[in-house]
Amino acid sequence: SGFQPLNLIRPLLDAVAFAGYVNPSPIQSALIPVAITGKDVIGQSQTGTGKTAAFLIPFMNSWRGNDPRFPQALVMTPTRELAVQVAGEATKLSPSRHFRTVCCYGGQKFGLQMDQLRKGITLLVGTPGRIFDHLSRGTISLDHVRYVVLDEADQMLDIGFRPQIERIMRKLPKKRQTLLLSATMPPPVMKLVQRYLVEPEHINI
Ligand code: AMP
Repeated sequence: SGFQPLNLIRPLLDAVAFAGYVNPSPIQSALIPVAITGKDVIGQSQTGTGKTAAFLIPFMNSWRGNDPRFPQALVMTPTRELAVQVAGEATKLSPSRHFRTVCCYGGQKFGLQMDQLRKGITLLVGTPGRIFDHLSRGTISLDHVRYVVLDEADQMLDIGFRPQIERIMRKLPKKRQTLLLSATMPPPVMKLVQRYLVEPEHINI
């Protein structure tokens, strides 16, 4: 398939084919090889371009299992709708049945989310508000997170999530890879980049 040149692990190539993806989209062709090297990345692109798979695949490609109590990857989104979409894409592309995606957002019962967390977690997707609530209550640990995505960063800041984003970012392990996706790059987004990304490569598709 058109994904062959990206050198993905077999289960991921199978998942991509099963999802019906024949060729990588432009943002996928540009972002995946850079993120696979471990570099921090700024991805400037609109929705509907395949950006979700672009930021999920590099983590999935490097994942070889984890302690199910501790997520290894964290994706923050501005809305519950987007969190659900991202989690759906992650489930669709999942490289293993042991790869567990959990979605958490405000308005959903804490008890329900904790039941899901107890079943094991690899990837946590959610809105900054709810993720921060879990951190404060001690119902989730981000101590093993090594891959972080700020999706639609401009939207998250517009909604007013800066304080929660900053508190979460400060709690994450220093040794990690960080990706920031945004349609626009106004100064507040650049401030996040300067604070939390290290020598990022800027991909504008
Ligand atoms: P996104 O921009 O991530 O919201 O993706 C938009 C839509 O394109 C979603 O429904 C994806 O499932 C789909 N998609 C992502 N990558 C590909 C691809 N390489 N080929 C076909 N469809 C894709």
